[in-house]
This record gives sequence, C-alpha cells and structure tokens, in this order.
Amino acid sequence: MTTQNTTAMHPDIERVLISEEDIQAKIAEIAAKIDRDYENRTPVLIGILKGSVLFLSDLLKRVTIDCSIDFMCVSSYEGDKSTGVVRLILDLRESIEGKDILLVEDIIDTGLTLGYLRQNLMTRKPRSLEIVSLLDKPDTRKVTIEAKYPGFQIPNEFVVGFGLDYNERYRNLPYIGVLKPAAYAGEGA
Ligand code: 5GP
Repeated sequence: MTTQNTTAMHPDIERVLISEEDIQAKIAEIAAKIDRDYENRTPVLIGILKGSVLFLSDLLKRVTIDCSIDFMCVSSYEGDKSTGVVRLILDLRESIEGKDILLVEDIIDTGLTLGYLRQNLMTRKPRSLEIVSLLDKPDTRKVTIEAKYPGFQIPNEFVVGFGLDYNERYRNLPYIGVLKPAAYAGEGA
C-alpha cells in the first residue's frame, strides 16, 4: 500500500482554510452523532445539489444506521454572488410524509436557501426535520437557521472545494480553500 500526499494544492488556491483530514474527522464525528440520535429509525438524508454531493457521500459511508437518500436542487447563486431568489430546480422523488428528514447542505450563508427548503418541506408533513451543514458563515445570516449537526464556522469569505464551486469549477478539491484574486478575473490556471 502507498501513502498518499492528500492535499496537493490547486494553482488557483490562495490558501487552504480546512484540510481534507479535518473535514474527514468532522464528518466521522457528525456521523457518530447521527448514528446515536437516529438509532432504530430510518432517516432520509436529502442532499441539496450540487454543493452537498461530496459531503453527503462521505457522510453516508460513515453512518451505520439504516437510511435512504434523496436529492433536491435549488439555485440562488450566480458566480460568487447570491441573487437572493431561491429557485427549485429538482424536487424529491419520494413522499416524506411521516419520515425523519436530515437536510444535508454544504454551507449556510444568508440562510435563504434552507429557510425556503424548510418551509417547503414542512408542508409535506415529515415526522421530523433537522439540518446538517458542513460549513456555516454566521455573520451573513438573513434568515434564522441553525444546523443541529454543524461542521465548521468560517468567516465571511467566498470558499471553494469539497463540493463548493466558483462558476462550476473547483468542486473536486478534497479541501476547502480561498481562491486567488486572479481566478475571479478569469485568469485561473
Ligand atoms: P444561502 O442561501 O444560505 O445564502 O446560501 C446557500 C448556498 O449559497 C450554498 O448552498 C452555496 O451553494 C452558496 N454559497 C454560499 N456561500 C458560499 C461560498 O462561500 N462558496 C460557494 N462556492 N458557495 C457558497
């Protein structure tokens, strides 16, 4: 078996904010809490596309209780700016009536996305609904939203990696980082 140097830095990244190792340790912690809290229940983990894909898949691998997954896709961002208007692009396949729901999100910023989703999903009468979010920018909140299963609090900076994009790029980085200014000017590598 070979040892892998896991965090080779992308040339457009100015600095790594959260390393791959720290992300994976946090996901293991969150999975252990979910295992404890949902013992003998079968929650539905709803991934919010596209940003939560890496988080959801790594979380799923570590959760040992019986569970299922579904997806929703919403959009409110253009480039690195929130438009403030949340649009539902893809809805769930299954009914969530009477089910325990865990909404899995990449980041809570203004809270508008999760505020919209929470309101929308509560009309479908789930048994419970809680939020799991890898990142949280508490300083920019416009809607009161709190994750029951939080990952990391970060300052009000635009971040990419581990599912988060800038114009659809950088989702595949295994860490969370901040872009060099040149990457925004279209001069990225
Ligand atoms: P909110 O509706 O809470 O303002 O924002 C939630 C969504 O905005 C996230 O799911 C994510 O798609 C996007 N977002 C917010 N902050 C960032 C950021 O720093 N980087 C990236 N790539 N997306 C962000």
